[in-house]
Amino acid sequence: MNLALINIKQLVTVSADGNRVKTGKEMQNLSIIENGAVLIDGEKIKWLGRMEDLSMGSIKEADVLDCIDRIVMPSFVDAHTHLLFDESRENEFAMRSAGATYQEIASRGGGIISTVKEVRNTSKKDLKKNARRWLNAMLRQGTTTVEIKSGYGLDMDNEVKMLEAITELNNEEVLTIVPTFLGAHAIPPEFRDKKSDYVHLITEKVIPYIGKKKLAVFCDAFCEKGYFDVDDCRTILLSGLKHGMKPKLHGDELSSGGGAELAAEVNAISVDHLEHISEKGIDALAKASVVAVLLPGVSFFLNHPHAPARKLIDTGVPVAIASDFNPGSCMSYNIPLMMTIACTQMKMSPEEAIAASTLNAAAALNLSTEIGSIEIGKKADMIVLDIPNYKFLPYHFGENHVEKIVKNGVVLEF
Ligand SMILES: [Zn+2]
Repeated sequence: MNLALINIKQLVTVSADGNRVKTGKEMQNLSIIENGAVLIDGEKIKWLGRMEDLSMGSIKEADVLDCIDRIVMPSFVDAHTHLLFDESRENEFAMRSAGATYQEIASRGGGIISTVKEVRNTSKKDLKKNARRWLNAMLRQGTTTVEIKSGYGLDMDNEVKMLEAITELNNEEVLTIVPTFLGAHAIPPEFRDKKSDYVHLITEKVIPYIGKKKLAVFCDAFCEKGYFDVDDCRTILLSGLKHGMKPKLHGDELSSGGGAELAAEVNAISVDHLEHISEKGIDALAKASVVAVLLPGVSFFLNHPHAPARKLIDTGVPVAIASDFNPGSCMSYNIPLMMTIACTQMKMSPEEAIAASTLNAAAALNLSTEIGSIEIGKKADMIVLDIPNYKFLPYHFGENHVEKIVKNGVVLEF
């Protein structure tokens, strides 16, 4: 045994008894052990239980972390970010405060395309340097696994540059970083009236290359009026699938456009946003067990409507929460803050918000058999929180309650 966490006031395991995801009423059940302990061997969890059942002989050789008066829970999984970018866009934030809409800003040269221009002119080295700043900060706030999308390159060379940067960061940084190809994030300026030519470029050239080089785990697309319609997205996602990338989708964000239905049809691992999901879409997701990744920070930051979290959960759709950290629509990767917004604005319970940010978020990255809960055989990715009980986490917001972080069985030093 290498490491023992003992005297844990509340051990929030989020165990799903071997299931890949929690749905419905199961999201309320966090499988809490009062006065618990966890034993770790190498990267993995070897034992967990109550202190009274722990044989002290078994931890003689181990490093011991005394968690008296502390909460231990799985570390956060952020299943949706656009973390790799160059310039921040605080000027647009100020314009929005003065009344401009997201669409008006885009028509004045702002929005995604302004970040595309910056990223095309930035070296891989500088993109990585920028990303490290955010990665270190999000790790300190308790996130140990993060998905990062490409989608600010929008041509062969720059999409590949982004995905190479993400892959290298995964090898160099402590966090587990999962790359997603999002070539269909927006229509690049040079293809303004030639969208079908751009879809052709993505499916015939870019996706086969990325697949061959294994630069992305998932293939994503932005399904929205004025961007890519359902048929475009289907073509792109099926091409991704053919080249070894599982489908993900940005769906039903600004309008109800059949995104959820498409995600169910192609058996996507997740469909994200869903602020305007239809009734039919909700039923389709529940039936296909596609994870709905909700992004409370975006609705908060843009003052847009929230996704119908209650209806999704009550219908049996597996619901996850992520940050969508990006310079335009959510400049935060603070997962406990996303939980607070989910509880106050979307009427999720603290238990549901925790399950949504750990196990279900891992399921949205197809990683929930390895991480996302504290169970024997899983990787020891955990956080120690200086709070009196787990409900305190979304309640006392805007504060970092994370005291210690365990990643792959190692206690990180800051
Ligand atoms: Zn996004």
